[in-house]
Amino acid sequence: MKPAPFEYHAPETTADAVGLLGEHGDEAKPLAGGQSLVPMLALRLTRFGHLVDLNRVAELTGVERRNGTVVVRAMTRQADLEGSEAAGAIPLLTKATPLIGHFQIRNRGTVGGSIAHADPAAELPAVALALDAQLEIASSSGTRLEPASEFFVGTWTTTVDDGELLTGVHFPVWSGRSGFAVDEVSRRLGDFALVGVTCGVELDDAGRVARAAIALLGMGSTPLRASAAEAALAGTTPSAADLGEIAQLAVADLDPPEDIHASSQYRRSVGAHVVARALGAALEDADRA
Ligand SMILES: Cc1cc2nc3c(=O)[nH]c(=O)nc-3n(C[C@H](O)[C@H](O)[C@H](O)COP(=O)(O)OP(=O)(O)OC[C@H]3O[C@@H](n4cnc5c(N)ncnc54)[C@H](O)[C@@H]3O)c2cc1C
Repeated sequence: MKPAPFEYHAPETTADAVGLLGEHGDEAKPLAGGQSLVPMLALRLTRFGHLVDLNRVAELTGVERRNGTVVVRAMTRQADLEGSEAAGAIPLLTKATPLIGHFQIRNRGTVGGSIAHADPAAELPAVALALDAQLEIASSSGTRLEPASEFFVGTWTTTVDDGELLTGVHFPVWSGRSGFAVDEVSRRLGDFALVGVTCGVELDDAGRVARAAIALLGMGSTPLRASAAEAALAGTTPSAADLGEIAQLAVADLDPPEDIHASSQYRRSVGAHVVARALGAALEDADRA
């Protein structure tokens, strides 16, 4: 099949892009790497009268360290994170990125596209949630920063409104004695994860967990923070932490989706194992730091 007819726009500045999005409202959609949008258009799962191609907007690309954060511009290709020195200050990003699809997809797919698309099984939205990233959203009337905890509304749904554009993601840098891990289970290498987790821990001078951040993917309609597990981990030492028990807390109240790939019970059961494994790896990573 081919997409329904649309008018193609190729702005060269963010101002022009948001101008076009504002002018055409719910008839317009930004086109980033096209790895999700183009198949959906081609299969006629969706249609828009206007596509606003962001690929010529140079100011939407790049990674820079700024005031305790790493700012990733929305059109930065996922593959470009892997070799970026600035992105290296956010180890969760560089650990999660190689797990996104295949390298061909990461060569075209963008950081902003993945986060704006908000697939509940995607890695980067979970990284943004775990790290309390701020999403930079622009429209013709200005720019706002929105916390990741409020950004993801449901499957493929965020608070980015018609006429708005995700322009960048601000990831806080963890500067202490920290460790990070990403773990997931998928049917084949490169498939979307059935379940997964991104997590970070920071140890204080006495070697106790001063901070823990755990975000699950594939376990609900959005990425989910495992707050009860984070609280249980706080104050423990890597050797004393009962990771199996803490991982059970992470999944206890969840009602994971059921589909042809996995039952809800499978996702909850495997999810707990994946969380325990990732926490162990993050604690070891922090212990070595
Ligand atoms: C075979 C295959 C396997 C994949 N496996 C994985 C996987 O394992 N993990 C994973 O995370 N992803 C996976 N993906 C998806 C991939 O990561 C895409 O890159 C991502 O979903 C969308 O990024 P994109 O830049 O291609 O966006 P596009 O496809 O261009 O856009 C996606 C959506 O986001 C909107 N959008 C894009 N940019 C912006 C913006 N700046 N502001 C507002 N809205 C915007 C578009 O309008 C559209 O609705 C896979 C894709 C394929 C085809």
